[in-house]
Amino acid sequence: MRQIPTQTIIDAVKEGVIRANLELGQDVIKAFQNGLKHEQSPVGQEILNKLIENARIAREEEIPMCQDTGVAVLFAELGQEVCITGGEFRAALEEGVRRGYREGHLRKSVCHPFTRENTGDNTPIIVHIEIVPGDRLKLLVIPKGGGSENMSRLFMLAPSAGWPGVKENVVRTVAEAGPNPCPPTIVGVGIGGNFEQCAILAKKALLRPLGTPNSDPDQAKMEDSLLEEINKTGVGPQGLGGRVTSLAVHILMMPCHIASLPLAVNLQCHASRHLELVL
Ligand code: SF4
Repeated sequence: MRQIPTQTIIDAVKEGVIRANLELGQDVIKAFQNGLKHEQSPVGQEILNKLIENARIAREEEIPMCQDTGVAVLFAELGQEVCITGGEFRAALEEGVRRGYREGHLRKSVCHPFTRENTGDNTPIIVHIEIVPGDRLKLLVIPKGGGSENMSRLFMLAPSAGWPGVKENVVRTVAEAGPNPCPPTIVGVGIGGNFEQCAILAKKALLRPLGTPNSDPDQAKMEDSLLEEINKTGVGPQGLGGRVTSLAVHILMMPCHIASLPLAVNLQCHASRHLELVL
């Protein structure tokens, strides 16, 4: 059994949330550059250039790329041959986030739903833990902004809605969201499972690096078809018109109940922060 002390987890998560807020992934920057080849609107082109510049400044001057430094979402893949020592696993993740947001001077964005009193340390976190084979701990850290999360949607469609119903609702979600999720977005689509599972699928779909094709050829075709329709809506970068409303559509799909067709659309803004830590 491999032992991982909670202090190692706390330190890694602390650094992870800070770095995720300062360093936009090269896959996202490449997608902006690719978007420039397709965007015809001068304003849209200017915005894409500014996003590339913004990412550079954030990285070089160690300033968060957006004032909304997000709610900390973590996907943890915990090897079944790992033993966490020195404390509780979830508490270690929370402490890492707490220290990262404090020491990295990141905005704390978590509050009571009604009083709106800030919890003061960006906790509680949202964590999804999966037990997997092996002796590693993989953590995917995603600071998730409020604007794009607010425009995400979940639908329990009738099975007869089929692919046309899925397509219509995904495209409508992006079109109705307009500028609110800070486009160009990445569109995570969860299909199947049940009510909560399809929402998790949609969020997990966002983790696939941009430019990596879907391993399922049918789903890859669906993604291309959705992206084409979405980019005909004319929302454009920052909602000011143009072709590049979304950079990519990522689908994750699983079987569902015979009476259901669950669909979740999780929008990710251009500040697509995600960082992988392997311990
Ligand atoms: S939605 Fe994203 S880009 Fe827009 S304010 Fe929130 S974190 Fe920033």
